[in-house]
Amino acid sequence: MSALDLPSLPSRFLERCLAILGPAGVVLEPPSIEPYVTDFWRQHRGRAAAVLRPASTAEVAAVVGEAAALGVPLVPQSGNTGLVRGGVPDASGRQVVLSLERMTRIREVDPRGEHIVVEAGCVLETVQRRAAEIGRLFPLSLGAQGSCRIGGNLATNAGGVTVLRYGMMRDLVLGLEVVLADGRVWNGLKVLRKDNTGYDLKQLFIGSEGTLGVITAAALRLFPAPKDRQTLWLGIDGPRIALDVFELFREKAGEVISSFELLTGFGVEAACAHLPEVRRPLPEPHPWHLLIELSWSFEDGLSEKLEAVLERAVEMGLVRDGTRAENEAQRANMWRIREGQSEATRHMGFIVRSDVTVPIVRIPELVERMAAWVAGTAPGVTLVPFGHVGDGNLHFNFIAPPEQVDELAPLLLERLYDEVTALGGSISAEHGIGRTKREALWRRRPALDRELMARIKAVFDPQGILNPGVLFAEPEEAA
Ligand code: FAD
Ligand code: ZN
Repeated sequence: MSALDLPSLPSRFLERCLAILGPAGVVLEPPSIEPYVTDFWRQHRGRAAAVLRPASTAEVAAVVGEAAALGVPLVPQSGNTGLVRGGVPDASGRQVVLSLERMTRIREVDPRGEHIVVEAGCVLETVQRRAAEIGRLFPLSLGAQGSCRIGGNLATNAGGVTVLRYGMMRDLVLGLEVVLADGRVWNGLKVLRKDNTGYDLKQLFIGSEGTLGVITAAALRLFPAPKDRQTLWLGIDGPRIALDVFELFREKAGEVISSFELLTGFGVEAACAHLPEVRRPLPEPHPWHLLIELSWSFEDGLSEKLEAVLERAVEMGLVRDGTRAENEAQRANMWRIREGQSEATRHMGFIVRSDVTVPIVRIPELVERMAAWVAGTAPGVTLVPFGHVGDGNLHFNFIAPPEQVDELAPLLLERLYDEVTALGGSISAEHGIGRTKREALWRRRPALDRELMARIKAVFDPQGILNPGVLFAEPEEAA
């Protein structure tokens, strides 16, 4: 059998893709396909008939057009760091991965206009660096920034550690270029701050997880680069105190707070024990910790301002102990503990991951309710919530004994989603729905929401070739 006789694909499709992309653009050998079908934490593995690697918008448009003509299902993929299995194919072996990794051009950088135009395959960290080179900030920042790519950041509406100040990816976009499901190119690549001309079509693609179109390029907002930054680590009693500290900081330092992150003492100790390069920021362990970052564009003066806020926090009895990063190494150590929470705990059992949000004032209730439920129902499980408490968003991870995980994971997640829903929250704050949360979403979504979403999908992708099984069940599954 020749490579072009794959039973799961029309041979004409592969012939056409080879003609359009050349051999560098078509991956057919199973070992080379492997990284594209396995998720970041290697907990899930799908199968793909092939991987396509176009190098330009015209090539993306051409192969999507072929897929549309022959009904071939495509899975758009950028950095493959997504955490809800949206960028890896299902187990059928019929889907084709469409990787944007070769589209890495920075098309335009404009410091005065404060924008950057990049292709979807640009790694987030590269965009941050390019912005820094011209004295600007591209603020999106998250643990996977060395691997995730702009197309994936857009398609998931990524969040991260600076949302409190700069918003989610949705808020950082001026324009998009998208290849539609029929292979036509939609050019919405404007750099305007204001544009009230009917429906804001680009926003539909942001957060659509590859189900409405293939994003090929974006115009992104840049911001003034902070020149003075203060990073602070506090030991506190618990989430209720975290909210008191948050209120105090909002009152005294408002818009200069760029990150406000909460960690458990358990998670911090795990990082100190399992991440070799990490040092404990405070001499003693504490039940909970806050990592807070403030920055502004003045050259200096922030330290004195922060001093006054801290004095007040101590007077109010909110803080058990605290320290400030004196240099970049100390700051990096603090962030390593925060970003390494999943990595540090993964050897302690099977990590059941989640990403939920509630109105910020209900964070303590959520933590208390889940702790009480886990203690009563699944005492072998350890709760390790951490994350963007300033946004009401926690990554509510559970460490479960591996031999019980099949039984416990659905129970833990269902309970969490029910609690979150009862508290007026959402079952996905920033990671999206993908394949992992699809059923959990549809069970909770009102009928009218479901109808409107299905109608939008039908307008953009009537044949259902873009990411089937992500966000929506496939027709045969739904039947
Ligand atoms: P992929 O994984 O390749 O794809 C993600 C989704 O987007 C899939 O549904 C895919 O089909 C679709 N897609 C990809 N490219 C395109 C395209 N060009 N056009 C259309 N659809 C496309 N996320 C956060 O929001 N905040 C965090 O703080 C955060 N921290 C993380 C930390 C770690 C260690 C890891 C591993 C992940 C983290 N994530 C976080 C999740 C992940 O990094 C983000 O979702 C990221 O935006 C995904 O980008 P990607 O390029 O890897 O996308
Ligand atoms: Zn996060």
